[in-house]
Parts: sequence; C-alpha cells; structure tokens
Amino acid sequence: MSGSPTIGVLALQGDVREHLRMLEHCGAHAVAVRRPAELDMLDGIVIPGGESTTIIKLADAFEITEPLGKLLHDGLPAFGTCAGMILLADRIQGGTADQTTLGGIDMTVRRNAFGRQVDSFEAMVHLRGLDPGAGPAYHAVFIRAPWVESVGDGVDVVGRIEGGPADGRIVAVREGRLLATSFHPELTEDARMHALFSSIVKGT
Ligand code: GLN
Repeated sequence: MSGSPTIGVLALQGDVREHLRMLEHCGAHAVAVRRPAELDMLDGIVIPGGESTTIIKLADAFEITEPLGKLLHDGLPAFGTCAGMILLADRIQGGTADQTTLGGIDMTVRRNAFGRQVDSFEAMVHLRGLDPGAGPAYHAVFIRAPWVESVGDGVDVVGRIEGGPADGRIVAVREGRLLATSFHPELTEDARMHALFSSIVKGT
C-alpha cells in the first residue's frame, strides 16, 4: 500500500477520540465511522472499548453489523480493544442471553473475567510481535476487562498476565489480520499496539 492507510474507529460508543489520536500518531489517516457506507473507504478498523452489549445493539440499529461482519470475514484488518475484543470473538462466556458478536477470531472470551473486586487495574505485560522485538513491557490498563479462555490453532497468543491470581491468562491475541487486547492501549502514551496494527493494515 502506498501512502497513509485509512483506518476507521467504530464510533458507536467508547473512547473513540483516543484511538483516533493514536492512529494519527502512527501515520494513518484516522476516521470515525458509524454508517455502513463509511466502511467502503477503510483499509482497517478499530473497535473500541465500551460496553459490548450496547455496541452490538447500536451496530444493529445502524445496520452496520452485517456489512462489517462480512468485511471482517473477507479480510478487512481489525483491532478490538476490551469490549472490541469481545466483539471479535467467535464465542463468549458471561454474555447476556441474547448477546451476539461480529466474530472473526477463533477464541472464547470471558466478559468481566477479572471480577468485581478488581474492576480496574494496571499491569506490565510482555507482548510478542511488537517492534522492537524485545522492547520493554507494556503498561496495560484494564477496565472491567475480559480475558481469553481458549484459542484455536490458528491464533497467536501475543500477551498474558504475569503473576497474581490471573497469572497466565491471555490478554492479547492475533489471528491473521485480526488483533485484540483485553486492555486499553489508547489510554497510555505507548503507541506500539497501534503501530503493530498499522503495519498489519499496510501489509508490512
Ligand atoms: N465489561 C465490558 C463489556 O463486557 C467491557 C469493558 C471495556 O470495554 N472497558 O463489554
């Protein structure tokens, strides 16, 4: 791809502005999207955190669920953070009875996995596949976060919790051009996750 890729941020709910800022910082042309017609111009899309039940209901109301699901299936790169990770999961646990997802990543994600006692927390996580390869640990911010219970054979585990009661739990994954984190990389100054996603979009 020549020039800056155009990366959308699904702007139905959640911290859209922070994602736009990070993507621009990484050299992308970043745009907020909420209508089906706006999907056509995208080289990639970020699905932000928020409340997954609300986001999917709004996506249905804006009639974006079906066209976006099809684009993901056809290979549009996507990066889901927190609720966005839930939306990219093929299977979820702890969802509401009627909760659906866009799907795309062969994984089972547990909503609100860390429990009420630890609503929000921060942890240092070592992530694989970042540039530079063996860089410093990532300062990850978790807010009523999910974790990944299990992944299929084609899914790369990018990061896990280290230490504490959730030791070893998967919090970052990649399957082909789909990337997802339990945490909120848009809420720190560390742009390495967005840079990784930009390079996936550019195909480099
Ligand atoms: N707990 C939320 C959900 O289930 C996700 C929280 C977040 O995105 N910060 O959708």
